[in-house]
Amino acid sequence: MTPPEEFSIAGFKIGAGQRREIYFKISESFLASSVQIPVTIIRGLHEGPTVFITAAIHGDEINGIEIVRKLIFETDESRLSGTLLCVPVVNIPGFLEQKRDLPYNRDLNRFFPGKVRGNNAERVAYKLFTQLVRRSDWGIDLHTAAHGRANMPHIRGDMSHPKVRKLARAFGSGVIIDNVGRRGSLRRTATERGIPTILFEAGETGKFSREFSEAGYRGVRNVLEQMGMLSRKKNRPRPSYQVIVKNSDWVRAERGGILDLFFHPGQLVYKGDVLGEILNPFGKTVTKIRSPYTGMLVGVSTQPLAIPGTGICHIARLSKTLSKVEQVLDKISS
Ligand SMILES: [Zn+2]
Repeated sequence: MTPPEEFSIAGFKIGAGQRREIYFKISESFLASSVQIPVTIIRGLHEGPTVFITAAIHGDEINGIEIVRKLIFETDESRLSGTLLCVPVVNIPGFLEQKRDLPYNRDLNRFFPGKVRGNNAERVAYKLFTQLVRRSDWGIDLHTAAHGRANMPHIRGDMSHPKVRKLARAFGSGVIIDNVGRRGSLRRTATERGIPTILFEAGETGKFSREFSEAGYRGVRNVLEQMGMLSRKKNRPRPSYQVIVKNSDWVRAERGGILDLFFHPGQLVYKGDVLGEILNPFGKTVTKIRSPYTGMLVGVSTQPLAIPGTGICHIARLSKTLSKVEQVLDKISS
């Protein structure tokens, strides 16, 4: 919990009811200059937990930047209980080049909690983890699909962890994918070390989407309200459905060629549905790709080309919750 009077982070002091923009050094560049990440610290007037909100840990996944920006501008510190550590761009080298990874093609989100004397990614991860994440009581990490893919807005978290479960449900997205996350990822490592963390996925790399950044911002606000850090708005709409999915898999191409996909993220597909076709250069169908099961399309390839093994559609299996989702989607489309 935040102490009532003194709060300092990375050597900066912030009083109750104040905000401060800092640059926090995480590495150095080939030009011998500092690599610094911008952090806005918003300390509420009232006591409460400390929370991190991070975006662009993958440098080309920029939709979360807009979510953090909105959070920074819309939060009134006099009404806030606790402290927000808002990090709009974590991976500065990747962001500057619009690439996913850090230099030497290292994915920062595989190296947490990092090492003080490790490789470049481990050192960046270590500084972030010790100075920002460890200072927090819980956190939200914002992502988009990887390059060449698009995701519908959804939450990922380890739903066997009671606090993660509470955060994930509070966010209010229709789909929650229940898994522990990859080894070395920020969300898994933080959760394992006592800082429950959820991950929001929406959209594509290199793009802002007003619809998805709104959904993300609303979700973050929902969590802050539910956790008592902001007062709850009356009549805030709740999700019309919320499914927790344990089984989700990529349907992969078996043949190479040009891909013609018939569905987009957020649609329901049924076992046997033709998801798309793979064509040869003469325009003839090489193969039809059928859905192996019934579920929600949480992600799709946005690339028009495929070879054997290319991920085409990411489908979250639905069984018990299928009829509820069908009713809601029917209502929306009618
Ligand atoms: Zn990502």
